[in-house]
Amino acid sequence: MCASCFLAFRRPPTCAPFPANEAPLPWPDGQASGGTLRWTGVAGFRFDLDGTSLAFDPFVSRPGLLRVLLRRPRTDARAVADRFADLDAVFVGHTHYDHALDLPAVAAASPRAKVYGSLTTVELARRLGVDDARLGAVRDGVRVEVGPFAVTAVASAHGHVPVAGRLDRVGLRGAGVPRTPFRYPRGAVFAWRIEAEGRSFHLQGSAGLDDRALARQRPVDVLVPCLAARHGTPRYLERLGAALRPDLLIPCHHDHFFRSLTAPPRPVPGLDWPAFLEDAHRLETRWGTRLHLLPFDRPVTW
Ligand SMILES: [Zn+2]
Ligand SMILES: [Zn+2]
Repeated sequence: MCASCFLAFRRPPTCAPFPANEAPLPWPDGQASGGTLRWTGVAGFRFDLDGTSLAFDPFVSRPGLLRVLLRRPRTDARAVADRFADLDAVFVGHTHYDHALDLPAVAAASPRAKVYGSLTTVELARRLGVDDARLGAVRDGVRVEVGPFAVTAVASAHGHVPVAGRLDRVGLRGAGVPRTPFRYPRGAVFAWRIEAEGRSFHLQGSAGLDDRALARQRPVDVLVPCLAARHGTPRYLERLGAALRPDLLIPCHHDHFFRSLTAPPRPVPGLDWPAFLEDAHRLETRWGTRLHLLPFDRPVTW
């Protein structure tokens, strides 16, 4: 995030969506936890702290459009192992392929990690060969403690995806695994509250909201909202901001995920970055929330 954006008091920031900035998270009190955080594109994150490692929606294989529509699901085991080895736990917000495709490779690269998600995510992971003992189904309010981290499932909803949303499948069909990435079912959708070292994050991996679950949330230090497909959710960031009153705002799921992870990131179609900057500015005015952008696929200190 460019410093000039922060300094442009009461004007919407003007920064680009994918800066090379690798600065630590700018906490208001300046106290870093010593942990690291890596945004691996889409809604994928890796948190490391004191020898414990978590991943959320780990997805780096990023097949192109034709492969998504027509080919069998295939993971890039090397890309996965480079980023998601030695995890202690994996949390999956919903079962669409851009959140769950890499699960078998992640489970192989992190043999001690448990995988948490909806009943659909758990069943898909089971069908993909992940051992039952490593699977944990969650529902709204379930809290999982892993080393210094506490992760709580928050019932949520999916953003409205024009056209493709009409073909969306909610549950798994038949007995096997989906024949193409496009056929991965959605399942129930969760956001996550992550707490460690006195800091808290709300990871909103899809741009729908469950108002009842959101109303039960306490304020959070960092709001991490998915920006893709948010336009069908009225006042999306305003509602998240009012419920969570975050100090920091870190967007995710705004990169075009048909592109390889090694290619320079581009905005997801329909992003409307200027509208997001306006929304971010409103959160700053209302709640003092500071916009901070993470570098693409690089760890930063938090
Ligand atoms: Zn989805
Ligand atoms: Zn997604």
